[in-house]
Amino acid sequence: MKNKKISRRNFIKLGGLAGAGFVFVPFVSGCGGDDSANNGDTKPVNPGTGVKVGDVLSDWAEGYLDIHVINTGRGESTLYIFPDGTTMLVDAAGSLTDIGDADEDAGVPTTPPKPNASITSGQVVVDYVNHFAKAASNKLNYLMLSHFHPDHMGSYSTSVPMATSGDFRLTGITEVGAKVKFDKLIDRGYPNYNFPEDLTTSSYFSTAGHNMMKNYIKFVNWAVGNGSTAEQFEVGRNDQLTLKQNPSKYSNFQIRNIVSNGIVWTGTGTGVKNTFPDGSVVAAATYKNENVNSIGFQLKYGGFDYFAGGDLQYTNRSLYAWLDIEKPVAEVVTAVDVMKTNHHCTSNCNSDVLVAKLKPRVALVHSWREKHPYPATAKRFYDLNCDLFSTCVMEANKPLLASYMSKILSTQGHIVVRVAPGGLQYKIYVLDDSNQEYIIKSISGPYQSA
Ligand SMILES: [Zn+2]
Repeated sequence: MKNKKISRRNFIKLGGLAGAGFVFVPFVSGCGGDDSANNGDTKPVNPGTGVKVGDVLSDWAEGYLDIHVINTGRGESTLYIFPDGTTMLVDAAGSLTDIGDADEDAGVPTTPPKPNASITSGQVVVDYVNHFAKAASNKLNYLMLSHFHPDHMGSYSTSVPMATSGDFRLTGITEVGAKVKFDKLIDRGYPNYNFPEDLTTSSYFSTAGHNMMKNYIKFVNWAVGNGSTAEQFEVGRNDQLTLKQNPSKYSNFQIRNIVSNGIVWTGTGTGVKNTFPDGSVVAAATYKNENVNSIGFQLKYGGFDYFAGGDLQYTNRSLYAWLDIEKPVAEVVTAVDVMKTNHHCTSNCNSDVLVAKLKPRVALVHSWREKHPYPATAKRFYDLNCDLFSTCVMEANKPLLASYMSKILSTQGHIVVRVAPGGLQYKIYVLDDSNQEYIIKSISGPYQSA
């Protein structure tokens, strides 16, 4: 696959702290548009570079927390840059729909690949990370995978190239890991990959899934043999995902591991409880779906709170109560300012109970199908007066969303949540995804952390 290199004009002009957007910018309510307006004084305010519509987004700067929703059109990928410059990539889409790997909701149209079909989604993520991590640790401190589905880790196909340095194919997360230096990989299955059953052989996955897992495990073993480490995500802990550059300076930053493989934090210490039956029962269930095994965590930075939970869902909860994994999660999470909507904000996820507990002011939709976001799910956020930002809303979905569209402030682009030092306020930048220049399309906020 060809990597089309596009010039990044203005990149070298970008500033540090002043360019990050909070120093000169006045408090304004409302959303969208150019926030270079003055602050009510008669003297115009210099907004700096990289912080107004039409600019390339300024680099991350010390003290800020960046959450980048990278839109490839093929699934989810989020780059986090923590206040001390520690970096974490969660998931690396994507699904190769041209090989019929969009197994969920067959026949539902997919969003367009971004920036175009001539570049792999893995390479898009590589380029994005290389651009924005440079100002931070200049590598990935953590490479994490929420669960084992193609729209989060990359489809397997013999049509994609082999890595030059290892015995695995380059697709999604394996392409990113082969091309970007990373310290530690974390997923829900290392090292045995046997929940609910052996994922390389069991009926829990299709043959395509077995091949995807075999390729991924070869990649993990290659990485561990080449300087990286790997761990399984451990629910309950608040010291597995930590700051690596300057932790003592940011003692107000914490990530709590909430859920994985049906195991949920109890809300006390590092205690956990298992909400699923035995793995063999899960694997043999009439309805089974990898989504419910997703990793979820809650991030706190001063006054700012955020939740992400992969593709957690409650589909078929009337069949088996344990399939509503969002229910026990709702019992232990606390209110947040921003959340990644579960499972691309499609149907049967982001339940009333969970959304009422999280009470987000802003919700992020990593869209890649026509039904993302799904109207009935979008309504739950609309009713909360929550602003939704989606990486894409397809034309056919807009009339179905009807009045809910008034709360959807982005319908195409990368989405960046940039939290100011101390976590008291944040802005949402939407970036043009039609090329790889990272130009600001709209700015919302500042929002005040609750
Ligand atoms: Zn997904």
